[in-house]
Amino acid sequence: MTFIKGGIPIKTEKIIIPAICFEEIVEHGRSNLPYEVCGLLSGNKNNVQSVWKLVNEIKSDRRYFVGKKVVEETFKQINKQKEKVIAIYHSHPTTKPIPSSYDLVNHIDDEIVMVIISYKFKKPKIKCYRIEAGAYEECIYLIEPTS
Ligand SMILES: [Zn+2]
Repeated sequence: MTFIKGGIPIKTEKIIIPAICFEEIVEHGRSNLPYEVCGLLSGNKNNVQSVWKLVNEIKSDRRYFVGKKVVEETFKQINKQKEKVIAIYHSHPTTKPIPSSYDLVNHIDDEIVMVIISYKFKKPKIKCYRIEAGAYEECIYLIEPTS
């Protein structure tokens, strides 16, 4: 899969998510059903190391909202830990793991991957996307077994 950035096709880099972080995200979403949840994933390069659960300030099954102050505070903590924000995740309690037009408009930064966890089906489905100029392209992720 290629991703066009500035006209130059580059190979989409895989996001590596440790199994323990993956389970934490799935559980975060599950425990808050029927409402949406969101959070940040940070680490180094494409390796996720930490999960930052955020509180959805509007109780909704279709939207999430986190105040700017909370987001900035979390970014600060991530910096302090010498990590960078890799992805922002949110759940879709009843719909497929595909970005909505609302998701695309409100995406905070094109450098940050969008992760969506869907609970539409019995088994939660997770997808990762790179967003650029309001368009999305799926990006591959790997779950790294916890040793
Ligand atoms: Zn969404």
